[in-house]
Amino acid sequence: MSADERFLVSEFSRSGIGFFEAQTVGKVPNLSDGGRFHEVPLVVRRCPIFGGQTRFVLGSKLQPEEDVDLTPVTTAPGFCPFCPDKIDIVTYPFPQDMVTEGKIVRGRSIVVPNILSYSTYSAVGIYDRTKHFVDMKDMDAELIGDLLGGMVDHAKAVRSFDPDAKFSSINANYLPPSGSSLVHPHIQSSHDYLPLSSQGRLIDEMAQFKAETGRGILEALVEAESDLKVRYVGQWGSVSIITPFAPVGFREVWLVSRNQGDIVDLDESQVADFASALAFVIKGYVSLNLQSFNFAMTGSGDAKEVGGNVLLRIVARSNPSPYYRSDVTYFERLYNESMIDVTPEETASFLRG
Ligand SMILES: [Zn+2]
Repeated sequence: MSADERFLVSEFSRSGIGFFEAQTVGKVPNLSDGGRFHEVPLVVRRCPIFGGQTRFVLGSKLQPEEDVDLTPVTTAPGFCPFCPDKIDIVTYPFPQDMVTEGKIVRGRSIVVPNILSYSTYSAVGIYDRTKHFVDMKDMDAELIGDLLGGMVDHAKAVRSFDPDAKFSSINANYLPPSGSSLVHPHIQSSHDYLPLSSQGRLIDEMAQFKAETGRGILEALVEAESDLKVRYVGQWGSVSIITPFAPVGFREVWLVSRNQGDIVDLDESQVADFASALAFVIKGYVSLNLQSFNFAMTGSGDAKEVGGNVLLRIVARSNPSPYYRSDVTYFERLYNESMIDVTPEETASFLRG
């Protein structure tokens, strides 16, 4: 038997976006059949935007059945730099020639310089400076909108101050399973002369697609998904919600701005659209007992030239628990290949419902 008879490839193109899927089987002993080897379906997909492969382990559910009591994790510790008694003392203002007001306050949120140097310019944004913990249940469009608006204002200030720091992203870790070192809910940004690796890949794909077709790759992807329907969730003003063909994380959802441009080109109403779309997805996560997530929002400093649209990707992470299983395995970390147990079609269908 030749290699290509051992798996079935289905490949097609829609709106210029190529979709690749291979179906094969895994051979494993079956417990209810005295350990006789059975064939179990195995699906591998390739992401049409980022190129990575995802493996769907059908029938095996790796996600939490119920939520857990977060009190042991979320009780305020002796020292928290973002709590009301410390934030004015241990955070510093931005330089006045960059951000006139020093710190950016909107509603209960505040945006201040990040003391961890992982980017040329970075900010940390705190959802609520008046209390230590914000549960995902309480993350509404207003709370998220104030914070995201403050981070976008900071991004605009950075870009006017130093136009060369054009690789911008706004990102979140929520609770320790997502990699967050501080429990007090916050988000972070990067503004660099060099893109992050998948940000660079996205910009290259944008540029190549634009050169070949004259249009934006994310715009074409949304059109394809809206046509195909199974991974299309809906439209929130200027933001489309889809689930990715080949997710890199659990319950991954993509929010794509309809307007071409970068993070710094977002106006108030487009920020509000992202905030309400994000609040909607987080509400969905809450109803699935998910209690931790990461998100990554990127565009391109050359957005208009490369046909770029702002993309926000969000994935759920394992729930906090003394013996929790991290959802990052060597597949993700060493092979850049994700192992996923719920299909994007199921997530889209769930969110539509
Ligand atoms: Zn705190």
